[in-house]
Formats: sequence, structure tokens, C-alpha cells
Amino acid sequence: MPLIHYSPILLMPRARTRYIAVLKNPVEQTFFQDKTGALIYCNIYTEVGTDKELVQCEVCDLYFPLQGDRSTSNLRIHWGSLECGKEKERRDKEKLNACLLSKI
Ligand SMILES: [Zn+2]
Repeated sequence: MPLIHYSPILLMPRARTRYIAVLKNPVEQTFFQDKTGALIYCNIYTEVGTDKELVQCEVCDLYFPLQGDRSTSNLRIHWGSLECGKEKERRDKEKLNACLLSKI
């Protein structure tokens, strides 16, 4: 069977950078309003090896870079989106696999 799902060209539009990040020390927080107007607070992380500031989606664990003015629009757009649901599924599967592997 052709491995068409793994073609980098097909994956490109949805591919997200996988950041390795650590929590800022001291902890800093920012927030945004979700679609219902509720305030969502999130911790600010920095990418390991750079000073890039990131926020993490609580639902699926993806990191999003903060914009220049510390705007969280990347995360706000992502929050509750189809992509978020898919990422969560993928992450849950990975966790399950890791858990199963650790029992071998
Ligand atoms: Zn998400």
C-alpha cells in the first residue's frame, strides 16, 4: 500500500512546529477570551535554546508562539478548533502507546 499519508507535501498545511519548552521562571501568565467570552489564563513558556515565548493549549498540549505584542491570537484561533480535537486524539494515542510500551 502506498504511504500517501506520510507525504510531507500533504502534511504541510497542517503541520505545526513541535516546540520543546520550559515554564518561565518566575512564572508569567497571559489570558485570552474564548468564543463564549470566558477568560482563559495560560502560563507563558520559553522555547529551549531560544528566547521565543510560547503559550500552550491546555486541551491538546500544542505550543503557540506569542505575537510581538504578546497577543495570544494564535492560540485563540486554535482553541476549540477541529485541529485541536485532532491533536488531542493524537496526543491521547501517543500517551496510551507510551503507557503500553512501558509495561512490556
Ligand atoms: Zn489544542
